[in-house]
Amino acid sequence: MNIILLGPPGAGKGTQAQRLVERHGMRQLSTGDMLRAAVKAGTPIGLQAKAVMERGELVSDEIVSGIIGEELDAMGPDAGAIFDGYPRTEAQAMSLEKLLADRGRTLDHVIELEVDEDALVERITGRFTCATCGKGYHDKFEQPKLPGTCDKCGGTEFKRRPDDNAETVRTRMAEYRAKTAPILPYYEAKGIVTRINGMAEMDEVTAEIEKVIG
Ligand code: AMP
Repeated sequence: MNIILLGPPGAGKGTQAQRLVERHGMRQLSTGDMLRAAVKAGTPIGLQAKAVMERGELVSDEIVSGIIGEELDAMGPDAGAIFDGYPRTEAQAMSLEKLLADRGRTLDHVIELEVDEDALVERITGRFTCATCGKGYHDKFEQPKLPGTCDKCGGTEFKRRPDDNAETVRTRMAEYRAKTAPILPYYEAKGIVTRINGMAEMDEVTAEIEKVIG
């Protein structure tokens, strides 16, 4: 099974992808996570991507499609793939089609998480993660049970993304509207798009996704 999770920044794609990984042993292919890892490691791609990401603009199609191809090869043919934050442009959608076809994979579902953009700024600017295990938290909606200690791994260091500030978030949303939302009709024509209310409780969103993927 190969699925794309689509939706503006903060729609919950990463959270839902992680749940699918835990439940179904699928692989999460998040270009945002891969790029952040490249920035941290100071690789040539990371050096190129850093400033673009800090501005909330899109990294080049060639770079992201290249890393997706490498990840697909690394994960082997058996596990299902959840594309999270990719494709984000029409050119990427075309590249993905070819990357999948070349590996004998087909795209089963495109799930769009629909959200209220005004609420997203609050969601995004309040989020932080455990620096050790990556578990996500939120200033207002989900603090660690014991303040300063990760519920999952006991870690005591937390981090915030440098692009999760109000100004960059607005650029990221504008990029979504201008470049990513227009690829939906392409998938709609294939009859594989399902829209889910991403403003519902996280568990409800997960249940709706489960219904789609059966
Ligand atoms: P994300 O974690 O998905 O919100 O991505 C964070 C940032 O990484 C984006 O604002 C872009 O700068 C970059 N990025 C991630 N995925 C892509 C992609 N598929 N195409 C272009 N840029 C991307």
